[in-house]
Amino acid sequence: MGSPPLCFLKQITIIELQIFMILFISCILDETNICSSDSLDTLTVPPRSNSTNILSSLETLPLDGYFSFENNHHAARDFGNMYHFLPLAILHPKSVPDISTTIRHIFQMGSASELTVAARGRAHSLQGQAQAHQGIVISMESLQALEMQVHTGEMPYVEVSGGELWINILHETLKHGLAPKSWTDYLHLTVGGTLSNAGISGQAFRHGPQIDNIYQLEVVTGKGEVVTCSEKQNNDLFHAVLGGLGQFGIITRARISLELAPKMARVKWIRVLYSEFSIFSNDQEHLISSENTFDYVEGFVIINRTGLLNNWGSSFSPKDPLQAREFSSDGRTLYCLEMVKYFNPDETKTMNQITENLLSKLSYIPSTLFHSEVSYAEFLDRVHVSEKKLQAKGLWEVPHPWLNLLIPKSTISDFAKEVFGNIVMETSNGPILIYPVNQTKWNNKTSLVTPDEDVFYLVAFLSSAVPYSTGTDGLEHILTKNKRILDFCATAQLGMKQYLPHYNTREEWQTHFGSLWEVFLQRKSAYDPWAILAPGQRIFQKAIRTS
Ligand code: FAD
Repeated sequence: MGSPPLCFLKQITIIELQIFMILFISCILDETNICSSDSLDTLTVPPRSNSTNILSSLETLPLDGYFSFENNHHAARDFGNMYHFLPLAILHPKSVPDISTTIRHIFQMGSASELTVAARGRAHSLQGQAQAHQGIVISMESLQALEMQVHTGEMPYVEVSGGELWINILHETLKHGLAPKSWTDYLHLTVGGTLSNAGISGQAFRHGPQIDNIYQLEVVTGKGEVVTCSEKQNNDLFHAVLGGLGQFGIITRARISLELAPKMARVKWIRVLYSEFSIFSNDQEHLISSENTFDYVEGFVIINRTGLLNNWGSSFSPKDPLQAREFSSDGRTLYCLEMVKYFNPDETKTMNQITENLLSKLSYIPSTLFHSEVSYAEFLDRVHVSEKKLQAKGLWEVPHPWLNLLIPKSTISDFAKEVFGNIVMETSNGPILIYPVNQTKWNNKTSLVTPDEDVFYLVAFLSSAVPYSTGTDGLEHILTKNKRILDFCATAQLGMKQYLPHYNTREEWQTHFGSLWEVFLQRKSAYDPWAILAPGQRIFQKAIRTS
């Protein structure tokens, strides 16, 4: 790591050491105050009283943007729709100094104020991570400090605001024949939001997650300082912030590396089915370890579904319609391998030869080869199509008790046997994604925690709950099932790490970070000593002076 403990202690001042001790103690005391997810009703915390002095102090700050103190209920919601913490105010920044002035003001109040600060991308968080109970939510959408700037040349990149959406970056960079290398499945997420987690999708086996494709960041720390950081400059802060769950600073600007995008940008999109997990995972692992392979590799599990292939009908056609008609899913557990090859229209013949060759080495059920051809942008923005359909039916804003896990290659078959054989009996509540990535291509200096193996799988249970249902599609049932999965991983010692982690106690956070915990604590005390930032992650709690 960039900053070993001894150097760190030499650098900090006595005051900072005192703050560190308060932070450390408050972190220990924290356990009893953490909001529990045990309650299955959505959790709404009432506002604290006596905030008049704080409000008036905020109103005196010289800002380009403004605070809103009323009608802020939308900031107490997120995609998970299970946790609701009402903020005291929302900052709508018009400039980076608006953010630094506000944070510096709160930093200077120290332990005399309970105020915390959460950056809010588009609140696609699941358990209140972008919320701040009676604190300040910063609406990153309002930050218009930076127009997107695409730089061509040998190492092309785009400079964007931390509140920018990946979908806008896609459209802007494509104008220059370029695009980011690593994506998420859904692009209406913000740069600051995904870089605080990792940003993982079917390209991550080759390029690493989004956090590994960043040249430079501008960050406002928990002391209100504006710092530019990169591998070469302030690298400890750079690594801390990437995958840092918003704990060390607000990302106000990011320099994202780009690659050449297919000129007319088409993609060949292929799905094949397996009934044996071991054959499916062997093929996935083969593809991600090959040099000349697909540009995207993912997969998903199908349990107890009939008429499955009819659902694909409009977008995918079978390679052999006659054989495909005879195939029936019949409620069996099936595994779908999903692959994509990017190409230019004038390279169609070569692309077909390459994909034929790659497919010839796989052992899927022969009658189940389905394919489709769409534009590069359509493929990358594919989840938005589903979003629009669900929104039209009022089904986008239901509770989302998602569970995202990283499972080492050595234990994935034990996991699959128990979870897909005994715990999860159907996949009608939402998709279950499963695909491997190569840790060797990932940067291990960031704050992201992963299993300790060269290859591990992302397994994402993307469930939607039917509001107020007490059946198998209800929140209670899905959360109980999630807990069974987590309990099994712990009991069987699978070496699992949560992605988009969510814990209730400090011990659990400490276990999650493992040997990185000390470094995480040191970085917290260096960059956000009063624990002002991202309180919704519930890792630290701000220490308050009571007398
Ligand atoms: P928010 O939810 O608003 O914020 C997330 C966290 O980051 C919060 O703690 C917040 O305080 C902090 N934060 C926000 N902005 C900043 C900033 N500028 N600086 C510092 N901290 C900040 N993830 C994947 O990796 N791969 C996927 O394929 C994927 N698909 C998804 C599909 C859908 C439909 C959804 C809803 C989510 C998906 N995600 C995926 C998860 C996504 O990465 C997280 O939900 C993340 O929270 C991003 O959402 P957001 O930009 O709205 O950030």
